[in-house]
Amino acid sequence: MRKAVKFGGSSLASAEQFVKVGNIIKSDDSRRYVIPSAPGKRSSDDEKVTDMLYDCYEKAANGKKFDARLKQIKLRYKEIIQGLGLSMSLDSDFEEIGANLSKGAGRDYAASRGEYLNGKIMAEYLGFTFVDAAEVIVFNEDGTLDDIETNKKMSARLNALEHAVIPGFYGADRNGNVVTFSRGGSDITGSLVAKAIHAEVYENWTDVSGFLVADPRIVNKPEGIETITYRELRELAYMGATVLHEDAIFPVRKEGIPINIRNTNKPDDKGTWIVESTCQKSKYTITGIAGKRGFCSINIEKDMMNSEIGFGRKVLQAFEEQDISFEHMPSGIDTLTVFVHQDEFMDKEQKVVSAIHRLAKPDSIEIESDLALLAVVGRGMRATRGTAGRIFSALAHANVNVKMIDQGSSELNIIIGVSDCDFDRAIRAVYDIFVTAAL
Ligand code: ASP
Repeated sequence: MRKAVKFGGSSLASAEQFVKVGNIIKSDDSRRYVIPSAPGKRSSDDEKVTDMLYDCYEKAANGKKFDARLKQIKLRYKEIIQGLGLSMSLDSDFEEIGANLSKGAGRDYAASRGEYLNGKIMAEYLGFTFVDAAEVIVFNEDGTLDDIETNKKMSARLNALEHAVIPGFYGADRNGNVVTFSRGGSDITGSLVAKAIHAEVYENWTDVSGFLVADPRIVNKPEGIETITYRELRELAYMGATVLHEDAIFPVRKEGIPINIRNTNKPDDKGTWIVESTCQKSKYTITGIAGKRGFCSINIEKDMMNSEIGFGRKVLQAFEEQDISFEHMPSGIDTLTVFVHQDEFMDKEQKVVSAIHRLAKPDSIEIESDLALLAVVGRGMRATRGTAGRIFSALAHANVNVKMIDQGSSELNIIIGVSDCDFDRAIRAVYDIFVTAAL
């Protein structure tokens, strides 16, 4: 059995955390391929090594001194090495990094060293083989991942090894230049490794015990989600529920490999399972609630609009011309509403309004700002009668005025538009009716 196990920055922020990680790996023989992040924050006012490295790069690129900053980073690794009682030294690595930065090494190269060095320590600590991600993860010239080539190289290399440590977050292009994923990208590396070794599971270890039904900043001590499907996760992640990099699901999803989100600080917690499909019912009809503030709606009215072929296209063209993507577009007989992100729209609003007039010739246009959208997501909704009824009566009892309703044909989620000021109350009301009431 083989598992790919990825550990996030907070799981590897200090020697103490490394020891927890070591125990987790040693407690299960199938945890054979390990993907570490760079050391993260040890406390809320601490710095992530990746941020410190970006800072070194900025300084070097602006011709400023970066030695003192690099020394701080070196100290962080030294503390880990000493705390683990290892005899290795990273002195020559730091000399090389310093020299490369002075010679104008790139931003991605600088950032990637956090994972590279942590990977070296991890390999030494576990006695596993270190595999430089630059040798097995291939980026195209335009910065996108060459997933086919990556899978080929990675499979060939890793399948010949019993145990390996592959640092997260980076790879290299065909000229050998280091390229990173976007922030949080070690999750993607973990997924690529899981795919390459045909892992039975991709364990992603972090500092929370998986996904929660709702945002703990809004709902007091929300329940955790035991099992979630990839599709549900996409819906919730889009609405802001983030534990995992959104691109991390694609490589494993295609292979039918589940992801298990686990907590390094509470290794006995089962965490959340992310699966392609399941016959396990979610505990509460709904799987999760998430939402986002900062939307506005553009309400367009025109008599007989519904019989005018091409009306919707003309309206959307006005947004497209200004490079604005729309989020939702509910419509009635003579009205059509377009929801957009307020910050994307604000500076261009008059241009969009005049373009709608020019292209679609509506009777009137009205803009409403400071709206929030919430998504109630759950595979269980399809089979349960009255879900929508329960949601809307809960919102009515909480005195929340519903401004928009959009249920996708998948019946996997219901999107509800409310005023920004009602947002928290709306989330709590939906949580209470499905979860608190069922406890
Ligand atoms: N260390 C990188 C970051 O801070 C990548 C990662 O942790 O996944 O974004």
